[in-house]
Amino acid sequence: MRNFKEIGEKFLNYKILNLIYPPVCGICGKLNENFLCEKCKKALETEAVFGVDNIIENNIKYFDEHIYIFQYEGIIRRLILKYKFKEEAYLYKTFVNFLLKNKKLFEKIKKYDTIIPVPISKKRYKIRGYNQSELIGKELAKKLKINIETEYLFKVKNIIEQSKLSKEERTKNIQGVYKLINKEKLENKKILLIDDVYTTGSTVNECSKILRKANPKKIGVFTLAKD
Ligand SMILES: [Zn+2]
Repeated sequence: MRNFKEIGEKFLNYKILNLIYPPVCGICGKLNENFLCEKCKKALETEAVFGVDNIIENNIKYFDEHIYIFQYEGIIRRLILKYKFKEEAYLYKTFVNFLLKNKKLFEKIKKYDTIIPVPISKKRYKIRGYNQSELIGKELAKKLKINIETEYLFKVKNIIEQSKLSKEERTKNIQGVYKLINKEKLENKKILLIDDVYTTGSTVNECSKILRKANPKKIGVFTLAKD
């Protein structure tokens, strides 16, 4: 038993260490206090598209707009995969430092008053050690002085990874997976839901569907990339 405990503790330390990683550029690995060097920033800039898709009122989509800054390809795709599956948690700083340099994006996000990151299951949280959307959300909230709520919306079921399923299967798979508490505190708020990648939109749509029950003024979705 003791061995298991020790392994557990080592694992935990490793996770913490990852968060206080020395400040390096997330792309080339050179020391850089902004987690993004000038050269790599320029390379990323050539990939940035900044898109806003307005969602036409219908019964299928529950959010008002989708904001993203990259197409899911090239450098950003490699970075996001590293961020999600290689436990390189510090990369959230690389992302946010880049995002906030984009004036249009900055202005757009500033119009929201509450950030809600798409939650992950407890099981996934234990494995990865962090919620990738929450780290980005917290950093954005801090820098832009926007309120963030990480405990209101949560995932009650661990499901098959959406990326392994077809579009139709994804919509079905995600139903009834999220729960919302403290609804009254979100009434009339302009909520910005944050996720890393938008593929079919079924995850953010299901979250928005639940959030609608709180009667918010607006729901926007922000993702780093759109697939
Ligand atoms: Zn670099």
